[in-house]
Formats: sequence, C-alpha cells, structure tokens
Amino acid sequence: NLDFKFIRDNLQLVSDNCKIRDSAADPALVAQLYDDYVKLKSESDNLRSSRNENSSAMKGKLEADARAALIAKGQQLKQQLEEVEAKLLQVENALQVEGQRIPNLTHPDVPIGEEDNAAVLSLVGEQRAFDFPVRDHVSLGEALGILDFETAAEVSGSKFYYLKGAATLLELALVNWALGRVAAKGFNVLSTPDLVRVDVLEKCGFQPRMENTQVYSVKDSNLCLTGTAEVPLAGVYMDKVLSEKELPIKMVAYGRCFRTEAGASGAAGKGLYRVHQFTKVEMFVLATPEQSDALHQELIGIEQELFTELGLHFKVLDMPSGDLGAPAYRKFDVEAWMPGLGRYGEISSASNCTDYQARRLNIRYRPAAKGAAAEQDAAAAAAAAAAAAGSSKKGKKGGSKSSGGATAYVHTLNATACAVPRMIVAILENFQQADGSVVVPEVLRPYLGGMEVIRPPP
Ligand code: AMP
Repeated sequence: NLDFKFIRDNLQLVSDNCKIRDSAADPALVAQLYDDYVKLKSESDNLRSSRNENSSAMKGKLEADARAALIAKGQQLKQQLEEVEAKLLQVENALQVEGQRIPNLTHPDVPIGEEDNAAVLSLVGEQRAFDFPVRDHVSLGEALGILDFETAAEVSGSKFYYLKGAATLLELALVNWALGRVAAKGFNVLSTPDLVRVDVLEKCGFQPRMENTQVYSVKDSNLCLTGTAEVPLAGVYMDKVLSEKELPIKMVAYGRCFRTEAGASGAAGKGLYRVHQFTKVEMFVLATPEQSDALHQELIGIEQELFTELGLHFKVLDMPSGDLGAPAYRKFDVEAWMPGLGRYGEISSASNCTDYQARRLNIRYRPAAKGAAAEQDAAAAAAAAAAAAGSSKKGKKGGSKSSGGATAYVHTLNATACAVPRMIVAILENFQQADGSVVVPEVLRPYLGGMEVIRPPP
C-alpha cells in the first residue's frame, strides 16, 4: 500500500505514476474512499462519545420523564451508530481492495516504457565463439543423461523435469556455493517454509486469489506454495518494531519455488528455462529509507560477482516502469547469454520495494534520536551557563529523551543469488564442448567432488 493520505494529497503524482507503470488502479477512487472513510470514522467516534455521555447521564437520580427521554435518545444513538458503522466497514473494505491495487512509486532514474526500454547498466564478458555446431541445454542434458523431461511429463506434466546424476549434484553445488558466498558477506542463512499463508503472500504484493494467478493454492487450507523465498523471508519480521541500530538486516535463504506460469508462451519456456518448480537462493534485506538505495547497489554488486565467478557473459538492466511489479520502486535484472537458445535470458532480479511491503506487513523501526549527542551537549552547555550566572535553575538534563517516540516503516529489498534451472541452462550451453561434454565452472568443482567435466555416458 501507499499511505492513503499520501494518495489523497498527491493525487496527480500518484495518477501519473500509475500511467507510466501501466497500472489499471484508480487513485481518484482511493482518494474519494479515503475522504469518506475519514468522515465516517469521525461521525462514528462522535456518536460513540454521545452515547457514552448519554449512558453516564442515566446513572444519576432522575425524574421518570427525564429517564425516559434519555432512554429514547440512547436508542436513537445506537441505531445511528449501527448505520454509520456498517457504512464505515463497507468503505474501509473498499479502500483496502482499491488501495492494494496502487503500485509503489517509481525511482526517478527508472526508464519509462515497456521491457524494450530497459537501460543497459553494464555488460560483463563477451559471447563465446564456437568452432562447432552449438546445442541447446535440452539436447546436451538429455544426451548426457542428466536431464529427463519425458519421464517428468508422465509423472507430473509439462514444465517439470528430473535432474539426474551430475545435474542433481550441480543443483546442490550451486545452492551450497551461492549460500556460502553470500553468507561470507554477512548475510544470515535460513531454510524457509515453502508453504505460506495466503494473507502473508498478499501483504508481499502477490495476488493468490486473482484469476490467472501465478500462485498454487492448497485446497481446504489457507496455505499457498511459495513462488519465491522472498515471501517467508519478508514474514520473519512481520508486526515487529526494530531499532535503527539493528538495520540493515541481511538474510539469504534457499527454497523451492512453485509457479503456475499462467499465460507463459510455450516457445519461451523450452526445457529448464520456464518450469513449475525450481530451487532458488534468495537474498532479502530490511533497511532504513536512507540505506535502501545503496543496499540495492550492493545486492546487484553481489549478483554480478557471483555470475562473473561462474564465467558467464551477462548484461545488467535497469528495468523500465512498465515492467515493474507493483511492490518494486526500482528493479535491476541480469540477463545472461545462452548460446543454445541464441539469446540473452533473465537469470536474476533485484528489487527495492521501499516501504511498500513493510506497510502491509507492519514492519517498523524506531529511528535513533537524531542528534542525541548534540542535544546532550546543548543541555550541558545550558547548565554550565546557568551555573556561571549564579542561577539556581538546573539545565535540562540531556539524553533523557525516552526511547519511545515515533516509528517508521523499514524498506525491504529482494534479489536472486542463484535461480538453479537457468544457471544450469547457462552452464550447459556456455561451457559445452564439441563432444557434448560440459566443463564445470571452477568455483563449483569442490562441491562436486572435484569433477571437472560432465561427460557423456560411454
Ligand atoms: P522472480 O522472483 O520472478 O524475479 O524470479 C527470479 C529468478 O528466478 C528469475 O530471474 C529467473 O532466473 C528465475 N525464474 C523465474 N521464473 C522461473 C521459472 N518459471 N522457471 C525457472 N526459473 C525461473
């Protein structure tokens, strides 16, 4: 959510923002509902206090007529209050529904437009030149006996796969390596639940109850299969108030992702590229508003470091307004060259969601009293001056400001460290050799018992 009052007070800005993000949300309706809500809330508060006053008045000794009049007034107030509260509930619900559809604001540097308008921030490495006919990961993986789509189609359906032998080990190697590399940068490592409550998903900005949703729901429960570990990670600090000195909080988790891929075209989803279930290592950060831009850069920096270590050729994109999901204020995607597919393919995504998710998840922090030390100095100076002037008045004691005070919403950021299937696509296709074998990236070898090359069966 954006703050409803903010939407009402900045209607033009919010409407313009919806336009550049291709959002069908209706900020004018939200502003109207917010005004109705404020009016009805104050009416309901006034009626409630009149009713309380009326009840108190009945406690004293009264003439029969006066009591009867108060009883009648009490009944009238009760009825009025019921009517106003029913309307209030209706307006509040509509405000929540319409308010949830408003996307986050957009970073001023984000390019305007659709996916083609992405700005290339950097290009790392270069396309490998092959002196033999290039094969795609499906042909390579099937010939090596490490990918099996046929059996998966029979057991689970299309867009499923079996990893076998070296591919199974490669998945575990990628997870271990990515978790270790990110943990070494001060991230706490977690293994998160793959089933989450529907309301938590909604608070993160996903829409499990919509038609054509990307989310699988579990029948007769309030649980859904997560599409990303971002959701259980965002939930860790739900309804908590953190202190500023705890921030930033950096977490990294691995989990299984489940996606219906409703509306995905068949051609784009060959082999492992777009599947219903996959393993992913995900980074998640909670930060103050002052920290979040720099942390976004840090996350994209970590991604670049990891993909460079694997030896991939990739470009980093600043994604345009029309491509941003509702929670994202800014999103950097990485696309790696996939020679078998003959194109760049997205391998990771890093978003700064500012306070959009935190507002719904109710994750706040208490800013450290700004200039507390300065305040203390000033108080000490005042006390010294008073003493020098011979005044008996004591200076105000410094540092006595209560640690209570106002709270603010944190900013949340999420970023892919390693989405396994697309890593396997990139590794098989980029490091293939003329005989169909595949060279294992050096950094992964220790996790594969030293295996240097995945060879075809004899
Ligand atoms: P997202 O959480 O949608 O930003 O996705 C994060 C990363 O997961 C993407 O950059 C892809 O590398 C990968 N990914 C997303 N959807 C799929 C899918 N259906 N199959 C395989 N990998 C996917």
